[in-house]
Amino acid sequence: MTDFKVSFIDLQQRYQEEKEELLACIDRVLASGHLVMTPELNAFEDHVAERIGVKHCIGLNSGTDALMMGLMALGIGKGDEVITSPISFVASTGAIVHIGAAPVYADVGDDQNIDPAEIEKKITPATKAILPVHWTGRISDMDPILDIAKRHDLVIVEDSAQSMGAFYKGKHGGTFGNVGCFSTHPLKNLNAIGDGGFMVTDDDVVNRKVRLYRNHGLEDRDTCILYGVNSRLDVLNAEVLMFRLGKLNGVIEARRKNANLYRDLIRAKQMFIPPCKEYEENPFVMFLTQCDDRDRLQAHLTDKGIQSLVYYGTPLHLHPAAKKFGFKRGDFPVAERQADRVLALPHHQYLTEEQIGYVADQVNGFYGV
Ligand SMILES: *Cc1c(COP(=O)(O)O)cnc(C)c1O
Repeated sequence: MTDFKVSFIDLQQRYQEEKEELLACIDRVLASGHLVMTPELNAFEDHVAERIGVKHCIGLNSGTDALMMGLMALGIGKGDEVITSPISFVASTGAIVHIGAAPVYADVGDDQNIDPAEIEKKITPATKAILPVHWTGRISDMDPILDIAKRHDLVIVEDSAQSMGAFYKGKHGGTFGNVGCFSTHPLKNLNAIGDGGFMVTDDDVVNRKVRLYRNHGLEDRDTCILYGVNSRLDVLNAEVLMFRLGKLNGVIEARRKNANLYRDLIRAKQMFIPPCKEYEENPFVMFLTQCDDRDRLQAHLTDKGIQSLVYYGTPLHLHPAAKKFGFKRGDFPVAERQADRVLALPHHQYLTEEQIGYVADQVNGFYGV
């Protein structure tokens, strides 16, 4: 592995900082002698529900499972269409396909989130749900999306995998739709030491179904009332997440500060950085830019010891797996153009002002400004 002057992520640094507390979390759980579905899991769920202002939080194996189970619990399945964004991690669409429904894309806006005006054009009699993706944590424009859902009697499953600590008009991400689906994958702002996720909802029926489904459909140890799966949030991770929730605001604050500094220092107009609207609080899980001559810029940055990533170079409708739905290049021109131009700059809470200044200088220098 190349040693970068400015690396993309910070997980080793984070471990050094948190080592004692993390090992104490593990010790507490191991010493208790109980490792599955313990009070630590309930404590985490209750805490999250209260923190983000919902009735129920259900700890699961992953954000992907949260999406799948959310759709399923809302009765979405075979023959149904779900309108979603072509810009995301594949799991947003994978969850739709996995439960037997068909993904229908609506193109995105400047900020890489689904464009509400495009959603309206895609509604058919088979449409049952909208699955907006809050990309990088920035919340999709929910007011018009809620209005469309109401007028057409659709449910909303929010892909809020990256939206812990994100707000739109003062309301927390994942609390607008029928269900909100969060991931605690190591690359998210609130991250476990492995895979994890949770679903939030105010709907008592959905809550009951997902709780059963994640635990084999068992009402008690001896009574299975529906066939489910094993998708329980690991107790070790619940304990680690509880500890890290205490640090989350600081993590997000540092990331916002870094994002603002990038914005101030990058002068090259060839690099577009989507502006933040006054009503949004973006947690900046990633710092995504859209830039001219992207591949050459990336090579230049690598050469200067700066690690960057194309996040992602393929919009969801152009993956080989999506072929069966008949999508083709040209279907979603905004998303396609963004995929050709997108570049994620190094972005984590340990970046120094010097490092950000160095990256900005290299970007400005590449474009000759
Ligand atoms: C991370 C992520 C997922 C998947 O979450 P996992 O916990 O990795 O299953 C889904 N959608 C988006 C937008 C994500 O960022």
